Amino acid sequence: MDSLDTKTCAQRHSGALWSRANSLPVQPCHVAMVQSRTRKYHKEVETSLRRHERSVSSYLSLFGFQGQSWAFILSDAMILTQCASCAAPLPHLAKQCSRCKTRYCGPACQKQHWEGGGHDLLCKKIKKGGGAEQYNADKKFVAAVATAAEECAEATKGQTCYICTEAVHRRTKEGLVRGCACRGTAGFAHVSCLVEQVKILCDEAEANNLDFKDFKPRWDRWSSCSLCEQSYHGVVKCALGWACWKTYLGRNSEQDFTIRLAAMTELGNGLFSAQAAAEALVVHKAQVVAYARNPPSADQIDLPYLAALSNVANCFAQLGREEEAQVIRRMVLAKERSFYGDGHLEPIMTAANIANAMVQCKKPSAKKYAEIREFTREWVSIAQSSGLGDHHITNRIKEAYAYGIYRDPAASLDDVREGVTILEDVDRSYRQILGKDHPVSAHTRASLVYVKGRLAHARVIAEIKLRRKL
Ligand SMILES: [Zn+2]
Ligand SMILES: [Zn+2]
Ligand SMILES: [Zn+2]
Ligand SMILES: [Zn+2]
Repeated sequence: MDSLDTKTCAQRHSGALWSRANSLPVQPCHVAMVQSRTRKYHKEVETSLRRHERSVSSYLSLFGFQGQSWAFILSDAMILTQCASCAAPLPHLAKQCSRCKTRYCGPACQKQHWEGGGHDLLCKKIKKGGGAEQYNADKKFVAAVATAAEECAEATKGQTCYICTEAVHRRTKEGLVRGCACRGTAGFAHVSCLVEQVKILCDEAEANNLDFKDFKPRWDRWSSCSLCEQSYHGVVKCALGWACWKTYLGRNSEQDFTIRLAAMTELGNGLFSAQAAAEALVVHKAQVVAYARNPPSADQIDLPYLAALSNVANCFAQLGREEEAQVIRRMVLAKERSFYGDGHLEPIMTAANIANAMVQCKKPSAKKYAEIREFTREWVSIAQSSGLGDHHITNRIKEAYAYGIYRDPAASLDDVREGVTILEDVDRSYRQILGKDHPVSAHTRASLVYVKGRLAHARVIAEIKLRRKL
């Protein structure tokens, strides 16, 4: 394994609830005016986004919002963005089944789906299940829990849930999972128990009207373990993502816009972590469109929007659309840098993703290696000077820096040695923070094996050269 894997991309979630704290109250008298202006605007954004589906510039042009009013008007962002019959991308206001809200590109597809696609048999059931969006999410959640429990079956054998203390869940009969950094006998749980726990925390927070600062740590339980405080990953994260989305997708009042979009983030990140980038892309793109329909005023930077764009970029990368991904990331980095200044984790995270992508270049030239070294050296030093030198995100930049040194065909023995030293440091730190089973740790270890082999080889060559001279 000679390059950092895309799965190590850090998907964003921290910004998602930010606008909760930053949102401005909407003046009632302005609503009608803004509504009509925004409606026209949505149309433009959506048309342009669909027309330039594959073009990078359409995403970049979305950065150029000017003079738009902050308005929580439309809060009906959804993830079923394709025609249920022919899978064509749908406009926001597409035709839908009047009973169950399944959406189509037109009457012909609706008719076809009813007569030949089995919708006549499912329509009632979908309506009873809360409509197309809810029905889909509930179904996906059940499947995701089954997948997670199955994948964790071996590792959870003989254990019990730390929440309900059973091995098999009493009601759902699901098996145990563990997808965080908990070690030993800690951290085994049922997805359903984890969901119940975080729901109680968030419901309580909402009932007591807690502010952002107090709400955020509770919300974070959708994506990170309450015992080890680390993020879930893979299939467990994916199941929790579906759980979160199915819980909040019905929230479509103006006030709930933020929470609905935040739930979308959890789902997209979960899918991404489970290597389902194509599905994750649909979700994050839906978010981008939703944010584009609700742009902030000129004096605010829309952080959730930048986070959604970063996530779109990561999905592109996982799907092999690297060029598009890098252009978006560079734009996001410039925006974040100007907003946060350098000493903040957000731009460092974006820089880590850029570095990660740089090392995946298929046949790097000497210039490319120099570029990798220059970029990563700058960002490691930025991270260090802002006290984030040991953060695991910074470790990923260090890893890319090491790669820029030891992979360069012109590397000297000392260069390769330096690469080994850096990777050993990074490996040690990952083991401490993430545990040795985390995919990121495992990846670094594989790189270390490679570079040590390279070092041994370089030593032999050097010795042969030396002998020849003598
Ligand atoms: Zn269709
Ligand atoms: Zn229907
Ligand atoms: Zn349980
Ligand atoms: Zn844990």
